[in-house]
Order: sequence, then structure tokens, then C-alpha cells
Amino acid sequence: MQSNQAVGNTSSLIEEIIDKSGQPIELCFQCQKCAAGCSMGRFTDYSPNQIIRLIQHGLIDKVLDSNMIWLCSSCEICGARCPNGINMAEVMDCLKAMAISKNIVSVKNVKKFHDSFLGSVKLNGRVHEATMMMTYKIKTMDLFSDIDLGMKMFVKGKLHILPKRTKDRARLSRVFTRTANKQK
Ligand code: SF4
Ligand code: SF4
Repeated sequence: MQSNQAVGNTSSLIEEIIDKSGQPIELCFQCQKCAAGCSMGRFTDYSPNQIIRLIQHGLIDKVLDSNMIWLCSSCEICGARCPNGINMAEVMDCLKAMAISKNIVSVKNVKKFHDSFLGSVKLNGRVHEATMMMTYKIKTMDLFSDIDLGMKMFVKGKLHILPKRTKDRARLSRVFTRTANKQK
């Protein structure tokens, strides 16, 4: 667990997050419409509006230590409900990158899952569940849990043996390069 002190200059921290996420979080007036609709709200330690409040107070360590930034499913319900057009999915992506760069990852194995997921998208242009899960299992050395679930999914045709790869490799590569540059 990290200390909860404010880190650096609060206004420059807010500016950095606004700049990287493209979201006007300074406009948040805590109406909590995002929290009321958040699809992951019952599993997370903070609600999306609480994450914004912590950022506004400069409590970045607390934000980066939160499971919210990893459990956010990018459903974008918050963005659709927010009267100020703040899409928290974009903010969470920005915070994930900050957490990784500071080596603050509070949820066990989530970074390994994150890397396996993104690695699959980078290779195929979309997620290939079977190889993504295999990569994750090898990274965590947890080879046999969920095997029943995997078999059930396979029998129901939800797991495909071969990936369907996107044809436009150059475009895919540009997306990853642009995202990497954005996070610098
Ligand atoms: S809906 Fe928008 S303005 Fe309201 S609390 Fe959430 S982020 Fe802030
Ligand atoms: S995008 Fe994330 S923060 Fe927003 S409603 Fe969905 S799960 Fe909640």
C-alpha cells in the first residue's frame, strides 16, 4: 500500500491527466451520475466520481493504488451519463499507464492479464481468447484453474482455435504507436 500524500503540484497533475486522457475532469461537480450507472461499481473500492475527487486533491498514490482503474470495463456508461461529457474509461486508461510507469499495481496478476490482453490485440487486431488465456496462464503459472470453464466455452463454440487476424497490419501498428506516444 502506498502513502496517501499529495504528490507534486496538484494543478500540474490535473493538467497532465486532462491532457493525456482528453477528458475535462476539471468540470466535474460531483453529481454522481457516473457512479449511479457504473457497471463495475459494486466491485470497486472507489466510484468514478471519487477517483476524480482524489485527483483534484492531488492524492495520486491513492488513485493509482485503487482497484477501480483496473476493474473499469470501459463500458463508457459514465461518459454517456455525465452532463460534462467526462468519459472515465479514457481517464482510467491514462491512470493505468501512470500506475505501470510508477510500478504501483495493487490487484494481483492484473498487469499480467493486461499484458496478455494487449499482446493478443497487438498481434491479431482483436482479442483471441484461447491464446490470450494461454499466455496469461503461463505468465501466472496457474495452468489448471478454470479448465472446466474453458472446456465449456470450447464446446459451446465460444473459444476458437485459430485467431482471425486483421488484414490492415500497418493501421494496427499505427494505432499502437500513436497510443504509446500519447502516454509519454
Ligand atoms: S457524472 Fe460527470 S460531473 Fe457528475 S460526478 Fe460523474 S464525472 Fe463528475
Ligand atoms: S467506463 Fe469504467 S468507470 Fe465508466 S461506467 Fe464503465 S466501468 Fe464504470
